[in-house]
Order: sequence, then C-alpha cells, then structure tokens
Amino acid sequence: MKTLKQRFLVGLSVSMAVLGVFFAVLISMNLRDQLVTDTEHKASLVLSQVEAIQAYVREVLRPAMYERLPADDFILEAMSTSFVTRKVMSDLNVHGDQFRYRRVARGARNPDYEADPFERAIMERFAADPQLTRLEEITQRDDDEVFVAARPVRFEASCLRCHGDPAEAPKALLARYGDTRGFWRHDGELVGLDMVTMPVGGALGQIKGKTISFLSLFALGLGAFYLTLQVFFDRLVVVNLRRVTEVMRRYFPKEAGEPPKITADAGEIEEIYAGIDAFASRLKEAREKIEDHAQNLEGKVADRTRELAREADERRADVSLFVELLNILNRAQTRAELLTATLARIAGRFGANAAAYECEFSGGGSIAWPTDAAPPPPPADWRQLVADGDLRLTERAALIPVRTTDVSRGLLRLYFSPNGPGPAPEAADLYRAIGQQLGIALENLDAINSLLAQNALLGSIFDGISDPLALLDSASGIIMANEPARELARALCDQPLLPGQTPRLPARLLGDPDPTDPPDQTAAGENCGDDPIFTTVTLSGGRSFAVTRYPLAASTGQSRRFVVYARENTAERRMLTQMRQTEKLVAVGKLAAGLAHEINNPLGVIACYAELLRQSLIDPQSLDDLAVIERHAAMAKKVLRDLLDFARPRPAKPGPCDLGALIASLARIFEVQGQARRVALAVAVPEDLPLAKADAVALEQVLSNLLLNALDAVAPDTGRIALTAKASPDRQHVALIVADNGPGIPPADLPHIFDPFFTTKDAGRGSGLGLAVAYGLMRDMNGTIEVHDEGGAVFTLTLPACLGPCQEENP
Ligand code: ADP
Repeated sequence: MKTLKQRFLVGLSVSMAVLGVFFAVLISMNLRDQLVTDTEHKASLVLSQVEAIQAYVREVLRPAMYERLPADDFILEAMSTSFVTRKVMSDLNVHGDQFRYRRVARGARNPDYEADPFERAIMERFAADPQLTRLEEITQRDDDEVFVAARPVRFEASCLRCHGDPAEAPKALLARYGDTRGFWRHDGELVGLDMVTMPVGGALGQIKGKTISFLSLFALGLGAFYLTLQVFFDRLVVVNLRRVTEVMRRYFPKEAGEPPKITADAGEIEEIYAGIDAFASRLKEAREKIEDHAQNLEGKVADRTRELAREADERRADVSLFVELLNILNRAQTRAELLTATLARIAGRFGANAAAYECEFSGGGSIAWPTDAAPPPPPADWRQLVADGDLRLTERAALIPVRTTDVSRGLLRLYFSPNGPGPAPEAADLYRAIGQQLGIALENLDAINSLLAQNALLGSIFDGISDPLALLDSASGIIMANEPARELARALCDQPLLPGQTPRLPARLLGDPDPTDPPDQTAAGENCGDDPIFTTVTLSGGRSFAVTRYPLAASTGQSRRFVVYARENTAERRMLTQMRQTEKLVAVGKLAAGLAHEINNPLGVIACYAELLRQSLIDPQSLDDLAVIERHAAMAKKVLRDLLDFARPRPAKPGPCDLGALIASLARIFEVQGQARRVALAVAVPEDLPLAKADAVALEQVLSNLLLNALDAVAPDTGRIALTAKASPDRQHVALIVADNGPGIPPADLPHIFDPFFTTKDAGRGSGLGLAVAYGLMRDMNGTIEVHDEGGAVFTLTLPACLGPCQEENP
C-alpha cells in the first residue's frame, strides 16, 4: 500500500465502513427501542384492563352478590376476581396470538395456575425488592424471545374470606376445590403475578433484516463511491501531483546535484517529497551561491566590466573592420585594388604578418600582401576546403574560405609570425564572417563591372542613333535620352535654362497629348496594347516629327516603360505641301490666264461704251443705272487683275531688301487704316536685322494682303495686329510674323487657306486669291509662308538672308 491513492482510498473505505456499522447499530437500537416502547404500551393497556376487571369484581360485583345471596353462598364465576379475570383475558382472548395473559400463584388453588419456574423467578425478583411494582423487559422464554410485563399480586383483607381459614370459606368453594390448596394466606402476602407476555421474536427478526439490508446497501454504495473516487483521484489529484513532481524534476534535474533517490515503486508522496527536497537543496545551494556572490560581487563586477570592455573593444574593431572593408569595396575599381587593400586591413586586424588570396576560378591567380612577401603555397586540398566552406586554423596560419552562400570564390590565408600569438580559435566565427563578406564584395565588384560594361554598350548604341531617341517611364518622365534628343530639347527650349537644368522635350513629342500645345497634330494612331504607337507631330515652330512610341514589357511590380523614337520630317512635309500647292497654282494659273484674256476684251468694250453712253445721257435714273454697270465692271476688272497677277509669271528680283524700311513704309499706310477701324498696329523690327534676299515690291504685296486680312479678322476697339521681324539664330534666314487677335483659322480650314478662290468672306468682299498670290510670290522668292493658330491667326514668312554675294550682286 504505497501510493497516495491507495492509502487515501483504503483509509477512506475503512472510515466509511466504520461509519456504516455505526449507523446500522444506531438504526437497530432505535428500532428495538421503538419496539419495546410499543410493546410496553400495549402491555400496560392489557394490565390496566386486568386491573379494571378485578376492581369491578372486587368492589362492585362481589359486594352486590353478597347482598343478594344467602350468607354462606359464593358464586365463583361472578365473585372470584381471579376467575373472572382469567376468563376474560385468557380464555375469552380471541387474539391470543398478540399477547398471553397469565395470573399465577405459588400454591395456587387451581393447579393449572401454579407458577412455573420462569414465573417463579419473576416473583422472586418482586419478593427481593418490595419497592418494585412493575417489571417490563424482553427476555428468552422456551427458545422464544418475548416481552414480559408483570406486576405482583398481594392479598388484601377482603381476599382472606376465601383464602384464609378454610372453615370460613364458602361451601361452594370448598366443594369445588377442596380445603387444602389456596388457604391460610395473610393480608399483604405476595402470592402470585399478573403477567402479560408478547412474542417479539418476529419483530426483532425484522429489525435484524432491515439492519442487514441497510448494511448491504451501504456496502454497495461504498463500492460505487470507491470506484468513482478512484477515477476522480486519478484525474484531479494524481495527475496534478505528477505534474508538480515533473516541474520539480524539470527545474531541478537529478544530475544538477544529489537529489534523494526515488525507488521505482515510490508513490506520489515520495516523488513530491523528492521534488521538494531537491527544490529545497537547490534553494540552499542558490542561497549559498548568492551569499558567496554577494561577498565577491565587487571583484566580480570589476572583472566582468574589464571583460565586457575588452569584448566591446573587439566588437568595435570588428565593426570598423567591416566598415572599412565596405569602403574599400566602394573605392576599389579592380579586383587587384580591392584585394590588396583588403588583405592589408584584415592582416592588421588579426596581427598576421602576411596574407594571400587564392582565386578559385582558373586563371584568377593569387595575390599577396605585402606585395614583396612570398607566402607559402596553399595546401593541396584548398579547393575542397573552399567548396566545403571549412575554416582551417593551424598553429601559424588561418585558411579562410571566401564564398557567398552558393558560390565558392577563393581562399584567404593569414600567416602569423613565429614569435607572436597564432590564430585565435575563439575568433573562428569572425574569420568565417570575413570570408563571406569578402566573397560578397568580390561578387558585387563583378556584378558592378558587368553592369558598367553593359551600360557603356547600351549608351554607345543609344548615342549612335542619329535620330532623337528617349527612354520614358509610365508618367512620360525621361529616364534616358541620346544626344540628338537632348539637342532637339535644347533647340525647342524657348526659355533660358538654369545652370545644370536639363531641357524638356514637348509632351506631344514624347507621345503624350499636351493640352498646352496647339492641336496641330496632323496624324495619330491610337493603340493601348503592346504594339508601337505611330504619331505625326507638328510643333508650333513648324517643325514636324514622325514619332513612334514602343512600349516595353514590364516586369512584375515595375511600371511600364516606353522607348520614343522621333524622326524629323519637316522638310519632307514642307516639300509635299509645296508640291501640292504648286500643282494647284499651276492648274488654276493656266485657267485664270485663259479666262482673263477672254474676259478682258469684253470688259474693255463694256467700260468704253459705258463711258460713251455717259456723255449722251442726261436722265438721272439712267445715269445711276450706268454707275452700277461701271462699278461692277470695275470690280470684275479687279478680280481679273488679281487673276492675272496670280497667273502672270513674275521675274524674280532677289535683290537685297531692307525689311526695316519696307515695314516702316507699310506701317504708315496701315496705321491710318487701323485708326479708321479702331485697331492697334504694333511693329517690332530689330536694329541688326540682316537684309533679306527678296523682291521689295512682291514682299510688300504679300505683307499688304496679310495685313488687310488681319484688319478684316479683328474686332474694332479690341483688335490688335503685330508685325514683327527677326533673324534666325544662325542669321541665315529672316522671318516676318503677322499675328492678330482675331478669331483665328479653324483647323478644318488650315489645309485650304492657300488654295486659290478659298474664301470665307461674303460674296463681293473677297476673291480668295490674296493668300494664293502671297504663296506664289513667296515661293518665287525662295521663301515660305506658313500659318498656325495661337488664339488668332499667325502668318510666318521666311526668307533667305542676304549674305555677302547677294550684296555684291545688288549693290
Ligand atoms: P480673301 O481675303 O479674298 O478671302 P485670301 O486668300 O486673302 O482671300 O484669304 C482666304 C481666307 O483666309 C479668308 O477668306 C479668311 O477666311 C482666311 N483668312 C485670311 N487671313 C485671315 C486672318 N488674319 N484671320 C482669319 N482668317 C483669315
């Protein structure tokens, strides 16, 4: 009975069993007491009844009988108390099985009622104790258990007539029982018993049975309780105790000290005891150590501080070594540079007097520090050492594998002087870390070199392309641009650049629609997928480009990039437009020449006859009608002259033309017209403007046409017209610009504006030949005329500037 559970359960069972027996005895005694009380009650009822019968016979019936009967007469059945009582209680007791009544006497008159030994023994107890008037008890009688209630019978004086002297006794009595038995009694003499017996054997048997049933049930309950308790004990107590023991064992393992021996069959109590014992012993040890520690604390703190300071110095040195290695990597341009600087620094850190690096790759060679030193050759298995990443420390050398996590790069060797300390085994981790760091540095250097080579190659290809080329990010920011692209940006930049500022290319030239640029894009292809986008862009200065935007495949997580390639096609486009325009002019010119010739003669005849008619007419109405004919004939003549101007071949007189003087004379004429229409005319001509190679008369006609159109276009009061002249940056050309703030020219009209007979003016006001004539004249002077819309119409005339030969030709 070793385990706590066994002890607990057995102890509990014994206690419960004792308790069960105690309760069984208690129940049994209680039931027995109950039985005795009930039986006593019944017996006293019976005896009270007996008493009542006897009293009635003695005090009522017998005296009455004596009065009525002759003096000597005696009727036993009515006058003998004993007789009547026995008759009523015994003989006539129909339920004699519940109690038995006996009135017995020692020397009884009727031998049937002589006291038997049991009754005589009771009488002796009454005789021995005269105070005892009643006896009640459960006793054994003839193998039966019975309840006995008895009271003594003592003679009174009234009884002595029949039980005293036989001579005085009634004759009837003598005749019935004789004169020997039942006489010579005294007053107060104890002669017999009134006794009631009741069988209680059955009832006691029942009590026993109930007690046994209780005990059985209790035992059964106890068994069930035992089993339940066992389970609960296991779950709640044993398991937790084992856990506590486990905790003790875990924190205080046996090998850490000398825990008490626990035998294999030791119970939980022993285990806990062992655990607590170990715990206490460790606490004791700890306390002793703390005391010891406290005593030596100061010294230990000083030692530890020194140790920590030394460690910190070492760590600092290591960190500065790594930082320095990084710096060396940043500075180094070549492997040799990197390795020489690194070897010197690493050898310095470890106190080595020589160092060498052996390159793993064939042809990589080796490098040594100091450069004039001749370090011993590497061991034969050095490649294996590097491949396995194994550090080898000998007495005088440290062989450090140089590698990244997956690539072997070489072997770093440090050699120590025979007089000083050798490689420190505790610095093994540091050696390995340095090997790895050097491996990474070499790898980075290789990667940077290859990147730089690729970059240079890409740059040379990029710059080798003669057309503008740019790499853009998704927001059209320029990542990279070749020299022609930069040149173009500079040429298009109309603002002075700050020092270091890169000029920007116009957004539309990068393939983006730019809301600030005028919408003079002539052709565009829409494409949102991976295909290139082709666009033709015409910039405000008239230069036009065929722009192709190539989308690049974006790698994950990166925004999309584009390559923009722009090819200038200004000359091509200009030539094309001029060819088209010339074709139109030639066709219309031929038509106009024929028409003019055919119409000119009839018109001359109309004018001549009208003149003749005027001289002969006097009727005012007729004269008015004639004026209408003359006006319309004059207008037809003007149109005809325009047509002839347009069709007539003009001799080119590309003489030097002083544009300043020409513009000044024109301005004088048009200022008057402008004032009449309340329109402001501004003229700006730089003083150093070169002479133009142009026919002054033809140029005047062109400018007049443009100024007249501008006057027609602007609104009175607010209208403004500007006539500006400027030289190109290379002073090879001069430009004349006529700009107004009128409604401008709708994009749909722009391609037709120089066509003959294109007019938007009312009939009779415009012939549509002004710009066509201007175009022809400019072409004849080797110049150009262009128009664009900047909120109003802007006409730009470009003429070659007059250089040396021109001046000589036309002094
Ligand atoms: P016309 O003046 O007889 O109509 P032009 O050849 O001079 O013929 O002009 C052709 C057309 O060009 C004009 O009808 C007008 O619609 C347009 N145009 C010319 N100059 C301007 C201008 N400064 N502003 C707006 N539209 C103009």
